[in-house]
Amino acid sequence: MRLELTLQETAHLRHCLTEALARHERGHADEELKNLFNKIVEAEARSTRQRTCPVCQQLFTQETVGRTGRYCGAACKQKAYRQRRDKAMRRYGPHFS
Ligand SMILES: [Zn+2]
Repeated sequence: MRLELTLQETAHLRHCLTEALARHERGHADEELKNLFNKIVEAEARSTRQRTCPVCQQLFTQETVGRTGRYCGAACKQKAYRQRRDKAMRRYGPHFS
């Protein structure tokens, strides 16, 4: 079974599991619960760090959390800029700057 969750739902679920695991702290936490928790942390990390570059369609890993670069690198960023500029040129003519 595949389950699709939004990032917000995933964060909520992780929070609930963290509390559930904390309650088990004295005894030994349920292995299944631990596995589930790890799966969620992993899925969350993947979805927040990996993006698809809109230019080359490559999946890339975000270097830093917070600042979000849309492109996999400087080359694709440049290419996207040129594409936007060319599109504007075609629409508004060569005098557009
Ligand atoms: Zn790219």
